[in-house]
Order: sequence, then C-alpha cells, then structure tokens
Amino acid sequence: MLYTKSKYEIELMKAAGEILAVLLNTLPEKIKPGVTTKELDKFSESVIMKNGALPSFKGQPGFLGAPDFPASVCASVNDEIIHGIPGNRILHDGDIVSIDVGCSYKGYQGDAARTYVVGECSEEASRLVRVTRECFFEGIKNAVPGKRVIDVSGAVQDHAESNGYSVVREFTGHGIGRELHEDPEVPNYRTNRRGIMFIPGIAIAVEPMICAGDFRTKTDRNGWTVRTADGKLSAHYENTVIVTDGEPIITTLI
Ligand code: MG
Repeated sequence: MLYTKSKYEIELMKAAGEILAVLLNTLPEKIKPGVTTKELDKFSESVIMKNGALPSFKGQPGFLGAPDFPASVCASVNDEIIHGIPGNRILHDGDIVSIDVGCSYKGYQGDAARTYVVGECSEEASRLVRVTRECFFEGIKNAVPGKRVIDVSGAVQDHAESNGYSVVREFTGHGIGRELHEDPEVPNYRTNRRGIMFIPGIAIAVEPMICAGDFRTKTDRNGWTVRTADGKLSAHYENTVIVTDGEPIITTLI
C-alpha cells in the first residue's frame, strides 16, 4: 500500500530515525579489530531498547524456508552485500563491515545502513565505501515533488557505474512507514518502469548496494547472507527519506 505520511506520522518517523542515527554514529567506537559481529548486534539492540524502540529486523520471515532473522542488525563483511547474520566472526584490520539496522518507535519505522572500515583499510576499499555513500546523496537529489522513482534509481546507477562499480539487481530500496517494507520499490538501477511520481509525505528507504566487481550475487546456505558471486568487495549505505515541498527529510542522519 502506498500512502503519504501525516505531520504526526513524520514526527514519529523522525524519532525512530534519530535513534538509529545516534547508534550508527556511535558504532565506530565499537568497530575495532578483534570485535565480533555478535557484540555489535548486542550493543545495537541495547541502544534501540534503551530508547524505547523495538528492533525491526529480529524475526523478519526468511525466504524459502529459511528461519526468521535472529538478530537486531545485519552485519555483512567484505564480499557480503547484505543480510549477514551476526555471530562469532571476528573483525580484522582492513575488513569492511556493513551494519544495516531498523527500529520501530511507537509503531513507526526507521531503516539505515553504513559500511565501516575496521582499523586501516586499503585505498580500494575506502574508495568503494565513499562512492557508495555518494550514490545515496546523488539519488536523493531526485526525491522531490515531480520527479519519479526512476530518477533516484538512475542517479544512483550513473554515479556507481561512472566510478567503475556495479549495482546489485536482486535487492532494492523500499517504501517505509508503519511497516518496514512498503510500496514503492526503489531499485538502485533503471528498470523498464518509471515508478511513482513523488509528492510530499512519501517515505522511502534509499539504499545503494554497490559492488567493486560484478553485480551478480549468491546466497549462503543459511538462507540469508547475500554475497558477491565473484568474491569482490561490496558496500551499502542507506537512510530513510521523506519527500517534502523542499529538501527531503533524512530521518536517520544527524
Ligand atoms: Mg532497507
């Protein structure tokens, strides 16, 4: 279902988003060589709960018989693109780790992701992380009334490809509000559909997933972890965005 958010709903989405923004800004203090992805999950969950919100990812239903998602964040390392399950994996100097996290506050959702570098990483990795973030900002220049979903998608794709990278096809951004995933779909590449025209009150999660090599993916036997088929690095950057009469509101960024 596609609907515009009222002023009241936007305030609640901003409150949900602020919890994630603070969490994501705090995580670099925790992301050091030697930490496990499970520790990052526990910390993130405690921040969400302390702020009176609920972790949205925990219990998300799996595809094709996979179990429900067991954690509050997705932690995807190096060639893992999205949906990495936090566990005993230790992060090492030079790794990159994408943390994707959602929370609901008084029934309204926020969803955001960042890719962090662990210790010192290669020039190649830090460039991928930087360009992935830039893709988001190029995209949302088009999250304004009168433009369409395809304008966001195309801007993300153009920025990634002009930097020699590729864009994941099988997973997209999405509408967000009362539910974590709502209409419309927000691909990071041009499809043969233009998508809806934006009007104030439309809320979307824009989330470039950018690959250093080819965009083809494979999914681990756990039914969740999606990684690049060629084993090359991938990065992810996401915020929850609300279209207004002027500049879009980014609820998950401070
Ligand atoms: Mg999302």
